[in-house]
Amino acid sequence: MKFFFADSQDTVDPTFDFETETRAEWRIRQRDDLYAHEVYQKPPYDGILVSKAMVDGNGSTGSRYSLAQRQRLWRAGVRSFFRLGGGLESMGDCGAFSYVREEYPPFTPDEVIDFYENCKFDYGLSVDHVILGFQPGLDDEWPELHCVPEEWRRRQEITLELADEFARRCNIRKVHFTPLGVAQGWSPASYAGAVVQLQAMGYKRIALGGMVPLKTPGILQCLDTIASILRSDTTLHLLGVTRCEQVAHFLRYHVTSFDSTSPLRQAFKDGKDNYYTMGRNYLAIRVPQTEGNAQLQARIRSGELHQETVRQLEERCLQALSEYAERRLSLDITLEQVLAYEQVHHPKENRAEAYREVLQDQPWTSCSCEVCRQVGIQVILFRGTERNKRRGFHNLAIFYSRLQRELAKTPGASSARETLEGLGIEAVP
Ligand SMILES: [Zn+2]
Repeated sequence: MKFFFADSQDTVDPTFDFETETRAEWRIRQRDDLYAHEVYQKPPYDGILVSKAMVDGNGSTGSRYSLAQRQRLWRAGVRSFFRLGGGLESMGDCGAFSYVREEYPPFTPDEVIDFYENCKFDYGLSVDHVILGFQPGLDDEWPELHCVPEEWRRRQEITLELADEFARRCNIRKVHFTPLGVAQGWSPASYAGAVVQLQAMGYKRIALGGMVPLKTPGILQCLDTIASILRSDTTLHLLGVTRCEQVAHFLRYHVTSFDSTSPLRQAFKDGKDNYYTMGRNYLAIRVPQTEGNAQLQARIRSGELHQETVRQLEERCLQALSEYAERRLSLDITLEQVLAYEQVHHPKENRAEAYREVLQDQPWTSCSCEVCRQVGIQVILFRGTERNKRRGFHNLAIFYSRLQRELAKTPGASSARETLEGLGIEAVP
């Protein structure tokens, strides 16, 4: 089971000084910055997924790439641009969620093939159009398609037509990457229907798209229905899985790879699960930068808060945390300082218990990953991109270890049917 990390130019600056919060003057963005696979001796994923829409900056989503970076990616290829080591693979896709509001995908199969070939990807996905809806109940009406919203059927047809053209063009152009056909659907049976057609087009690898909003039982339900029509030599990729706890069970349904960004995103987007360990997750300690915080600045301008007082509380909080890490300050006094600043930046929150827990356990001291060893307590501070991204990298490393642990258990574990029954889902006979 291969885990691909969906990249959005997530890097850290190795010259960043946590004390002064400054960077080396000579540092050049991206060139001197480090990807997670460069921070860790053992990369925390098997490969990266790069979306054409992310590179091009389609529609409302601005590009994460400067013009010079984009040109270098096209010229030098994905392996050189991302400085991918020997074992790491690369997968390209269109980034269908970025144009989900548009009537039609903005790329032609040939444009996408140009992107994959030029950048020398190992795998390339056909052009697809996401269906915004999932209703397993519609399968009871099957094949009475009039119950299914016309827009959903239209999007599935577009996706299948484009996959057909993609397969034909890949053959004619004798491409160097492995093509994957993308299946979109609104229910288990409609996904299975799409997979049947993709297999008929000659695809041996099929990616299941649009599953980002689905919870694990929904995904397993689809996989179980697909299993009844899947050829023995077809393998599946799951696009954008956010819940990864059951990922080892996917293996039994011919899922050989998936991609996700959630271990990284949770570090700074989640309300509670910001820092992973093998056993549980912790909340990160919020210490926002007064200067960069729009809400705090607005309240200072309106006279509600006094600039100097806020700055002092922030400074004392940071000071207390580093003294705590050096065992020069007690937990209670440290927590007091953290909460005193929180009273100002998030007066309605009460995170005292979660903060006490994480300060008490100091999980970063028992983590042997490169990030935690290097930056110590800084990794638990919810503050600015350099700390938040590093915590995200740590999460990737832990997630990858959790995945390996689950996979190690799998061979002798329960069958797919038992897994489904355990989750209260009826398996397809
Ligand atoms: Zn760590």
